[in-house]
Amino acid sequence: MSDLRAEILEWLAEQEALCLLVTPGPWKFYRPRPGWGEITAGGRDVASTSCSDGEGSPDMPEFSNGHFIAAARTVLPLALAALRGEVEAHEPREVSSDYWICNDCSVSLDKGDVCGAIKRIHAATVGAK
Ligand SMILES: [Zn+2]
Repeated sequence: MSDLRAEILEWLAEQEALCLLVTPGPWKFYRPRPGWGEITAGGRDVASTSCSDGEGSPDMPEFSNGHFIAAARTVLPLALAALRGEVEAHEPREVSSDYWICNDCSVSLDKGDVCGAIKRIHAATVGAK
């Protein structure tokens, strides 16, 4: 396995572990009163947001933050699983001692190299830190 692919899989494992530690989803965002938002799971509080204007108008960042946090609980594990599937599919395979190809996109590779898909995923995740 190349280092880039290993780095991505390690990063994915770290993010997936974070998802496993939080309260199970789905999470919902609602506003019990103006200026205040609650994120709940199964009727229990998970987090809260407040709006600095005290009115809680829908265009305040805190309002959007509440919707984002609630949605992330469902969307992030799905996105990580999809990304893991892509990384696992683009696995270099040895054809002969000096000839490798990507299992998914079938591009020729030098030993130890990865295809463009893995390089792009690496740049957008681990490489973007
Ligand atoms: Zn590939």
